[in-house]
Amino acid sequence: MDVQKIRKDFPILAREVNGKPLVYFDNAATSQTPVQVIDTIADYYKNYNANIHRGVHALSQEATDAYEAARQKIQKHLNAAHPHEIIFTSGTTHSINIVSSGYAQSLRERDELIVSALEHHSNIVPWQMLCEKTGAVLKVIPMNEDGELQMDQFDKLLSDKTRLVFVNHVSNALGTVNPIEVIIRKAHATGAEVLIDGAQASPHIQCDVQALDVDYYVTSAHKLYGPTGIGMLYGKESALKRLPPYQGGGEMIAEVTFEKTTYADLPHKFEAGTPNIAGGIAFGAALDYINAIGIKQIANYEEELLKYATDKLSKIPGLKIYGTASKKIAVISFNVEGIHPYDIGSIMDKLGIAVRTGHHCAQPIMDYYHIPGTVRASFSFYNTFEEIDRMIEALIKAITMLQ
Ligand SMILES: *Cc1c(COP(=O)(O)O)cnc(C)c1O
Repeated sequence: MDVQKIRKDFPILAREVNGKPLVYFDNAATSQTPVQVIDTIADYYKNYNANIHRGVHALSQEATDAYEAARQKIQKHLNAAHPHEIIFTSGTTHSINIVSSGYAQSLRERDELIVSALEHHSNIVPWQMLCEKTGAVLKVIPMNEDGELQMDQFDKLLSDKTRLVFVNHVSNALGTVNPIEVIIRKAHATGAEVLIDGAQASPHIQCDVQALDVDYYVTSAHKLYGPTGIGMLYGKESALKRLPPYQGGGEMIAEVTFEKTTYADLPHKFEAGTPNIAGGIAFGAALDYINAIGIKQIANYEEELLKYATDKLSKIPGLKIYGTASKKIAVISFNVEGIHPYDIGSIMDKLGIAVRTGHHCAQPIMDYYHIPGTVRASFSFYNTFEEIDRMIEALIKAITMLQ
């Protein structure tokens, strides 16, 4: 992998922040976009912008073909059985809401849902809203000090009352890779369905949804070198057929929308209205881009970055790394004794280093550690060892100023 050559594909990496070359270590919040993807969007608007599925004219046909080709790229990437098992959404949050809302009609009081302590708020709040509506009960798989799920506790939570289990594949706050194969197998053994939030996993881990036998898998393109405002919901054909449309459920105007919709079958049942056409096509281009490099190569290199950074950070006195699971992707959360994470982040920004500070939309994890938040550095394959050195330098400077 030629990192210097790859970096040339990402124009933003050449810019300066506060007079210093940008070091972008906020990849877990959103990844940067290569020219190949940017050009795909521009090409769409320059050459064949038209609404899809609706016209016989040439532009509409070209747009429809490109949009459906992107769907097939996602299908192939995930090894889904059918293209219509891929639903375009605006992102992970939207995808999860489609499934949680769909469950509203079939859940009964005292049915149980299982979530994990490691979730992003977008995989917690929609389910809490569902529980409020239906009287279903939300159970939580606890975590341990290393930021791993207590799987023996999961076994105890599972029962014939469990209807659905939803966990992230990778924690965005700590980087933990969860044992989703085991979770899926055990949940299915009790008759529950499983939704996996793959937003943080998909830039690093390629999965085979058929081999996993997962019911729902969701992600956002913007964490995967694609644009914002587009994502996907994978659902097994049988699961998606059972799930009512997102905008149905008694709200008349949504039903009217669906009655007018010519395509009531999958995937169109969940894609009412004009979608993010350019975004969908660009999502496909982003997959082409990372597949040309190879996800395995990407993951191996990022693991080296993670090891290097972990090693360097561990040598800083008073610094504590949160998330020390044996299986991690390239995300490091840390704090320095006696210093608020926000203050570190602000000084790092002055020095051109973009890290995230705060609770990372995962407040239950912060509560577990009794901290307000962390500083989080998250790496991508376009990052370098020299950039990590610069981060360490900036961090030491910040600590000296703040202590
Ligand atoms: C980013 C993220 C989300 C939310 O994704 P959106 O694109 O904001 O909808 C959910 N879960 C995890 C694990 C994430 O990293």
